[in-house]
Amino acid sequence: MSYLAAPDRYDTMTYRRCGKSGLLLPALSLGLWHNFGAIDDLDNARQMLRTAFDHGITHFDLANNYGPPPGSAESSFGQLFQQDFVTHRDELIISTKAGYTMWAGPYGDWGSKKYLVSSLDQSLRRMGLDYVDIFYHHRPDPNTPLEETMVALDGIVRSGKALYVGISNYGAREAKQAIQMLRELGTPCLIHQPRYSLFDRWVEKKLLHVLHHEGVGCIPFSPLAQGLLTNKYLAGIPADSRAASHRGNGALEEGAVTEDKLRKIRALNEIAQQRGQSLAQFALAWILKDPRISSVLIGASKPAQIVDSIGCLKNISFSAGELKKINGILG
Ligand code: NDP
Repeated sequence: MSYLAAPDRYDTMTYRRCGKSGLLLPALSLGLWHNFGAIDDLDNARQMLRTAFDHGITHFDLANNYGPPPGSAESSFGQLFQQDFVTHRDELIISTKAGYTMWAGPYGDWGSKKYLVSSLDQSLRRMGLDYVDIFYHHRPDPNTPLEETMVALDGIVRSGKALYVGISNYGAREAKQAIQMLRELGTPCLIHQPRYSLFDRWVEKKLLHVLHHEGVGCIPFSPLAQGLLTNKYLAGIPADSRAASHRGNGALEEGAVTEDKLRKIRALNEIAQQRGQSLAQFALAWILKDPRISSVLIGASKPAQIVDSIGCLKNISFSAGELKKINGILG
């Protein structure tokens, strides 16, 4: 059935400025790493995109290798985009990335100009787009001069194939170098995409400070630790969960659901309940309490999860007492 976007889609979402740029991002963005591949149900994927957009989520995040198989999330997205969203192109921020293994031979991985330019051309073909809004280098490459990778990103913006560029999984020191190089080239780094959740707080040491100081936005990924920071694993590993899915490609595995994690999840869930939030809402609100965060990049396997997660926006402030308790639980 043809899609009519909800007329009230901009009424409740909040939008945050991405660093010192002109771009506003929704407080929650939707990532297509899992559940949008060729092995997944296309109609469920369609319903998730529609649900997200109907609630003001204007940013969809992809990468060349999302699937499985790699490339298929972009192909599925392209198909659904053409059917449902083509008339909304100017309301959408669509991102993709290159940096992990994508095709055989020496030019399908890491950070050379050859790889980045070819990969973006492939991504645009799969999605049926003329340009992406944000193109990322997906991970640092220890063997390619940083300057070559940054010159490639700058050239991509100048070619009109991306409006903005970003980096992902860069440590604080290498991020600072990349940001400075891009600035000198005349293409400011828009955004950094690091992993960040209650269970993985490495960005708090230095990276968030560097990004804030440089005026670069931050969009954390896996804010729910791939589903661990929800109430779904409290009574075992459900058959329809990511941990039970054996999807590979970095997806959460059963072995990650440890007794130590469950003890922490149960204790955090008690605070969430006292706040009147689901554990997912609590974990997302905890990230959004920091104004240096531009947007939080959620994943989902069902439309209802997206609606639940958006509910976090009703309360993103934490008392000093709550924060102390949380830190105590996490050790
Ligand atoms: P999350 O930590 O948000 O995990 C998403 C999973 O959590 C869902 O698939 C679902 O699991 C579960 N879930 C989500 N919402 C709820 C809810 N409200 N209630 C209960 N369970 C819920 O994020 P992802 O790990 O999926 O990462 C998000 C995005 O970040 C990716 O799609 C991608 O765009 C980006 N990313 C970037 C990386 C990078 O290197 N730059 C690496 C990884 C991700 P289930 O499937 O079990 O139902």
